[in-house]
Amino acid sequence: MEAFVYNANPGRVIFGEGTLSRLPAEVERLGLSRVLVLATPAQEADAQQLARRIGTRSAGVFAQARMHTPTEVTERAMSVVAEHGADGLIAVGGGSTTGLAKAIALRTDLPQIVAPTTYAGSEMTPILGETHGGRKVTQSSPKILPEVVIYDVDLTLTLPVPQSVTSGFNAIAHAAEALYTREANPLISLLAERSIAALARGLPAIAMNPADRAARSSALYGAWLAGICLGSVGMALHHKLCHTLGGMFDLPHAQTHTALLPHALAYNRAAAPAAMEAISRALQVQVQEPAAALYDLARSLGATMALRELGMPHSGIAEATERSLANPYWNPQPLERAGILALLTAAYEGERPV
Ligand code: NAD
Repeated sequence: MEAFVYNANPGRVIFGEGTLSRLPAEVERLGLSRVLVLATPAQEADAQQLARRIGTRSAGVFAQARMHTPTEVTERAMSVVAEHGADGLIAVGGGSTTGLAKAIALRTDLPQIVAPTTYAGSEMTPILGETHGGRKVTQSSPKILPEVVIYDVDLTLTLPVPQSVTSGFNAIAHAAEALYTREANPLISLLAERSIAALARGLPAIAMNPADRAARSSALYGAWLAGICLGSVGMALHHKLCHTLGGMFDLPHAQTHTALLPHALAYNRAAAPAAMEAISRALQVQVQEPAAALYDLARSLGATMALRELGMPHSGIAEATERSLANPYWNPQPLERAGILALLTAAYEGERPV
């Protein structure tokens, strides 16, 4: 066996159906008495309901979380934290809400309880990407990692099918890149393969019946595993391109991951044969074709596969290529201009990778 380094992140995870009922006990366990509940505007009612569950231990609701964690929203939230003397945070929502909790925790070290409602996986990582002036900057700190994560399958039942599919692909992207990152290790590779298999099984069933609890449970389990992968090892080309494009053009996060992932895998195919075999095993397809198989799966579930349809301008192809080359990062297949241009052009047009 090859030598490896394995990093584990501390954290408490509660998984199941109806597990949100454990929230008051978790708040008490952490010794919190003035907890601020965070959400997006769309999930404010859920946040209010959750605040009622913890009664007098609630310090109110701040429902202004936005995608890509803009620092101006964090500053507004920081004033509310100070005004109410909050001693803890609860995030109910997807990666955007978790991102806001993490941004506050980075500045205050307040403990966080996260109840995820998408498959983004952010709750399992000590990583925060913040956007300021059109640029998304990522950093890592133990302060950012949530203390408690309550996965309640019931919270995901309302996630519309299109978002369930793209959020699921966001999770698959974490697991896929964990298989070929420089820090890949045997334990994370096991989790990554299981994660992709659970999501590939869950997503088509969710598309057929969004209320299918077994399918929802499988997808959420896959998302948890993918989050562990993302939080334990570095990522590569695919995540860097998604961050670059997200920050430059404010593209929707999960949809961008979905459209780009097959092309990033195709780019890395020859340089990462063991990872491609693992992805193929998880998807139960021919070894050489994981990129095309993921493209077909996403399309069959109704995902938009062209970045131009997600709002990326044509000039973005050249701009993002130059940015990725100016700020190079490790990737199994070395980065070169013609290859990145071809990758982004294919993703821009939504072509099937060959
Ligand atoms: P999101 O949190 O922005 O959610 C998208 C929309 O769906 C929001 O309006 C939200 O309120 C709504 N929604 C969420 N769950 C719902 C549900 N169950 N029912 C109905 N509506 C629901 O989307 P996301 O893709 O989960 O998160 C994207 C953000 O997360 C990005 O900013 C991304 O950078 C970040 N992220 C960070 C990490 C990390 O480790 N730091 C990992 C993954 C994603």
